[in-house]
Amino acid sequence: MGRAGLTAVLALVATACAGSPTPKPRPVPYANAPGSIYAPLRSPAPSPRGVAPTVLNVPGLLKPGQSVEGSVCSDPRILGRRISTINGAGACGISAPVRVTSVSGIRLKNAIRVNCEAAKAFADWTDRSAKPSAEVMGAVLTDMRPVASYACRTRNSRPGARLSEHAKGNAVDIADFSFSNGKTISVLKGWRGEGSTYLRRVWKGACGPFGTVLGPESDRFHQDHFHFDIARHRGGPYCK
Ligand SMILES: [Zn+2]
Repeated sequence: MGRAGLTAVLALVATACAGSPTPKPRPVPYANAPGSIYAPLRSPAPSPRGVAPTVLNVPGLLKPGQSVEGSVCSDPRILGRRISTINGAGACGISAPVRVTSVSGIRLKNAIRVNCEAAKAFADWTDRSAKPSAEVMGAVLTDMRPVASYACRTRNSRPGARLSEHAKGNAVDIADFSFSNGKTISVLKGWRGEGSTYLRRVWKGACGPFGTVLGPESDRFHQDHFHFDIARHRGGPYCK
């Protein structure tokens, strides 16, 4: 809608409201907007030098068909948007999925499609482990690279295996981490090389926020990424 069109609609809304004795407060679907029905966003954390803060779309700048990026899952740490229900084949799917582009101020180099429970576990781990552990690098974590989230497949994509937690939106795979000093640590090269202190800390730190944590020590399928999911196991989290 053009500016003129928007102005016309606003004028109509104003006219319609003028005759009403008790105009209903209209929910404003943007965090931080007056009267917003969504949880307010925290004031922007100071960005590491050279790192642009997350920019939220402003309504007036939206093109037709674009949706608003804001906080989702009633959690100001999780930025993205709600997407429509995913109905995959068989038991695959997510009833209330979100597409997340940032957690706790850390950009995701690939957006993830998960359910809110997984998104919250991801934000908890980011807050408690992925961000504070960066002190061993003498740097600030800025980005993470997810390489898988929702996918309708079996475990490790093997025929006949049980359905993966990825198929329910319960899981995310992370391949690397980038820092304010310009360095990137990948699970593939860093686990037994430079960056292993950081990687081993955050791998261990995921054990708790997530119910299943798999890294390079687990099997040949996890040499180049961490697998995190929120499945709960008898006897506590499974972390290897
Ligand atoms: Zn995985």
